[in-house]
Amino acid sequence: MTAADGLGGRLQRLSREIEAHLGGLGRGASRVSYRFREFRIAPDEEPDAEDVMFAAQCAVCGECGRPGTDPSGARQWIVRHLSAHPEHYSYRELVSRPYRAVPGAWR
Ligand SMILES: [Zn+2]
Repeated sequence: MTAADGLGGRLQRLSREIEAHLGGLGRGASRVSYRFREFRIAPDEEPDAEDVMFAAQCAVCGECGRPGTDPSGARQWIVRHLSAHPEHYSYRELVSRPYRAVPGAWR
């Protein structure tokens, strides 16, 4: 048994294998560092935020009312749709609410 067969030899072989594996990435590639930042997700209430929009959709035929900022407009559309399609009883409210990722501390 030679010295190269001991733990030192195994470490040298492993070191050569790792270096060969990383060789394709170029020198210095293993020294890239990353910083992570915390974010809080919250409703966007900035002055330039999109409006919250409401619409109603018939769950029977899929037809949608025109989206608007007043939620009562969606309910009024349901009444009109029901009068035109008396057998359509199921509806869903569609809400588009803007959210914002608020940057926090760097880690
Ligand atoms: Zn319908």
